[in-house]
Amino acid sequence: MAVLWNRHRFSGGLLVLDTTNTVVLRGDAERSFDRFAERAEIASFAETATIFRATELGGRKLFFDGSEESAGKVRQLREAADGLFRQAVRSGQLDTALFPAVLQGAAICLDGAGEMIGKEGRPFGDPATPLRFEVALGVSAISLLAGHEWRKVRICPHCNWLFVDRSRNGSRVWCDMSICGNRQKARRHYERSKAKEDEDG
Ligand SMILES: [Zn+2]
Repeated sequence: MAVLWNRHRFSGGLLVLDTTNTVVLRGDAERSFDRFAERAEIASFAETATIFRATELGGRKLFFDGSEESAGKVRQLREAADGLFRQAVRSGQLDTALFPAVLQGAAICLDGAGEMIGKEGRPFGDPATPLRFEVALGVSAISLLAGHEWRKVRICPHCNWLFVDRSRNGSRVWCDMSICGNRQKARRHYERSKAKEDEDG
């Protein structure tokens, strides 16, 4: 079934984190699955990321060429980045043992790209031309690692997604309050009323 790439699926706040979140229910061996198993979904994701990640991308449009080669690069960097940033959230530190996989993944994504990035107002290069998704992913991953924002990455306790907490007091708990926050609330309510029923039983 085709995925609806809505705003919720871009709760990560950065292209690299939204991409790690395309594996659903990580850590749940029975229910976890990869939304990027189908290459058509990678293309839809890249198209929608253009809209929801417009600020990060400096208005640059992303495209995916549809090849298995590019898909492989995307999946490889995605998994390496998830490993590194998830570990960083858990320990509050960066584990250099996890760097090589991310750097290699990014190198593969950026190889031959020949993009000029980082100019004022052009963080991902010239917005007049489209950019390969895997190149943008490489830039996003390296940028998160190189800056200090990795310290603000959190893991949603409901869905296990990674997201960057830009709230003023750093107290954001959910990837998306309207989805995961509410589901958790509903579950707690159910458990409380169930417990009461059992007591009253
Ligand atoms: Zn969540």
